[in-house]
Amino acid sequence: MASAEHVVSAFHIITTHIDEAIAAAKCHKCGCLQQTVEALAGTEAGKGELAPVLARAKTIFEPKKYDCLGCPVCYPAIAANAFVEAFPEAGAGLDLCPTEEPEGRQGWPPLPGDYSVVRYGAPVAVCALNSELLVKTLAERKPEGLAVVGTMHTENLGIERVIKNTLANPHIRCLLLCGEDTQQAVGHLPGQCFESLFQNGLDERSRIVGARGRRPVLKNVSREEVDAFLKQVELISMVGEQDADIITGQIQSCAERNPGVYPHPFRESQIERIQAPEPKRLTLDKAGYFVVYPEMRSKRLVVEHYTNQGVLNCVLEGASTGALYSEAIERQLVTRLDHAAYLGRELARAEQAILAGAPFVQDAAPGELLPATSAPCGSGSSCGCPSTPKPASSSCSSHDTEKAACQ
Ligand code: SF4
Repeated sequence: MASAEHVVSAFHIITTHIDEAIAAAKCHKCGCLQQTVEALAGTEAGKGELAPVLARAKTIFEPKKYDCLGCPVCYPAIAANAFVEAFPEAGAGLDLCPTEEPEGRQGWPPLPGDYSVVRYGAPVAVCALNSELLVKTLAERKPEGLAVVGTMHTENLGIERVIKNTLANPHIRCLLLCGEDTQQAVGHLPGQCFESLFQNGLDERSRIVGARGRRPVLKNVSREEVDAFLKQVELISMVGEQDADIITGQIQSCAERNPGVYPHPFRESQIERIQAPEPKRLTLDKAGYFVVYPEMRSKRLVVEHYTNQGVLNCVLEGASTGALYSEAIERQLVTRLDHAAYLGRELARAEQAILAGAPFVQDAAPGELLPATSAPCGSGSSCGCPSTPKPASSSCSSHDTEKAACQ
């Protein structure tokens, strides 16, 4: 308990700043003010000396529109900090944060947030604090080694979210902290709080030692989770840095010294690594089949589409794989996903053959082929081209001419 003088001074600060919030229309619908007033009202001082100002504040509440506007000077934050300093025991138990713990979900990351996943198996997570533009830039650049990049606005739920999402991916070994921390004179300071967590850990009340944020208490992660997190990742702190080039360089440098997948994950990753077997069966597409070939003279791709009765339906041509598969899909010439995948693969191979000036032979579609009953393509071989009327799901891999194959 602070001295009597300190307590009187705290009451004065609290009353003055709650009155400031009462006078500011923006605060009336803000979770920061409402949560602070409700929390203080439940304390002994809230029922005594602070009761009049808290009662005044409740009369101006409007339906909550935002959790926190992040104002450079937040009046209820100043009031709350004054209370915690004057009454550390009572203050430690107060729930001053207006945001609610998010619900977990299947997959990775398990907790939702304001982030972009780049690739699961990469070693670097970037926490850009309040710099949303930086998140967008890095997510578009997708530098080598980047797994995920996101913002983090709060020193409790924000940090807890990063901890849980990181523990769920043992590939992440480096946490790069950058971007603008906060402009608030008294506010969340998530960057400073995160640095303190790495430097000093938690006290017995799960408060981050040395953290200067408004309420740096991690109540939704266990001590074991925090310990495991601190062992899994190395912190690279560049708080304040917003230059995407510099940060990209640092991501690459972290990736180069990646120690590999963390061998002692706190929980087994729920992301299964599935071994894909070769396909066993291929079902014919009722829409028909394709003959793909590169036209070397014009350097264009050509696709002939046939009905399953062997009748030419149309001929598509274009400059790229994307142009041709888009047109085929648009015209509903494929009705099966395996057939679409096959077409994309063969178009990409044909495009590569044009670029390399190499011969192209259309491959068989993957899977168990139906027995060919004739060789309508004229190769004299059992190439799997559709005989009329019954087609086979294969290609003319016996040919090495430009126009040789079918599926
Ligand atoms: S963040 Fe603080 S100052 Fe800003 S609107 Fe909310 S309560 Fe008011």
